[in-house]
Amino acid sequence: MNTHDILEYLNGSDDAGLFAEAHATRQRVFGNDVYIRAIVEFSNVCDKHCRYCGLRADNKNLTRYRMQAEHILDAAARAVAEGAGTVVLQSGDDTGFSMELIGELIRTIKRCHDVAVTLSLGDRGIDEYAFWRACGADRCLLKLETTDRNLYKRLRQGEDFSARLHRLEGLRNLGFEVGSGVIAGLPGTTPMDALKDILFLTDLGLDMIAVGPFVPNSDTPLAGCAPGSARLSNRMTAILRLLNPEANIPATSALDALRPESRAEALRRGCNVLMPSMTPADIRGNYIIYPGKNADPLDGPPTLDRARRAIEGSGFAVSSAKGFSPRRNHVE
Ligand code: SAM
Ligand code: SF4
Repeated sequence: MNTHDILEYLNGSDDAGLFAEAHATRQRVFGNDVYIRAIVEFSNVCDKHCRYCGLRADNKNLTRYRMQAEHILDAAARAVAEGAGTVVLQSGDDTGFSMELIGELIRTIKRCHDVAVTLSLGDRGIDEYAFWRACGADRCLLKLETTDRNLYKRLRQGEDFSARLHRLEGLRNLGFEVGSGVIAGLPGTTPMDALKDILFLTDLGLDMIAVGPFVPNSDTPLAGCAPGSARLSNRMTAILRLLNPEANIPATSALDALRPESRAEALRRGCNVLMPSMTPADIRGNYIIYPGKNADPLDGPPTLDRARRAIEGSGFAVSSAKGFSPRRNHVE
């Protein structure tokens, strides 16, 4: 597929053909399986200022929380009991959680359960990541958000794109499986930007690639901006599937926030992973990256039921495997 073809697809020249080909590729590599990565969003405290994100330090309208270690471990245990093969520890960029404490969480989860552990903790030091790797963490997710350096600097308020990229390379050198990705339809971007993002991410040879649509949050400086589109996000992940057949590609929850049930649709368009929240109900409603995040009812314990229904209702099978990318020759 050349750049002209990609641009045509991004402009919607043949959605039916693109989605069918992405689905066939996904079936060839992963069969009917969909991996569940259960996310425990253990802190919504963040010292960064990303203009798109509701967790940004400047947002005073958010009730902040930090989960206690025992509650994080309980949430992880519940996720495993319900059939998740991966536990994702995610938070704002919160240095209030020490390297040692996070290391202890990783060690305990790995000792008690036969699961993969993914870290989505942002710009922590590479020495900290090395420590967590030694504690047993398997993967890291660190999205570039956009591959346009100027836009990156503007939207992440002064942060440096090269530093993020360098950190990503460092994580790979530490032996982690690495995931990255972008937000689709950020304000001011065009299909040409999406094309550049796709080529850049493909060149990185990632184990996991996450693309989800931009969802405006009224408590951020981008409040009045138009949302990205689920359709553009679907096109990007379908093209990425064709260019990266063996990468894990999630149907992100931002899709459902824009249009209910569009996560399930994305599974039929090349995606092979779901990442449901297992954050306890009493605090889940405060992990407001964007409105509609964690839209599960807050009146009961978190469960993987909804994800399971989305998977089985779309004709796929829930897989409890750790789900490493076949790009690496991992033994489960
Ligand atoms: N703090 C860590 C980091 O930034 O890497 C991890 C947590 S952060 C909340 C997880 C992801 O949320 C980010 O990588 C970003 O892609 C996504 N996100 C934040 N605000 C968003 C928005 N308004 N619309 C869509 N995705 C958003
Ligand atoms: Fe913090 Fe991550 Fe949100 Fe940026 S995207 S404000 S680093 S939680």
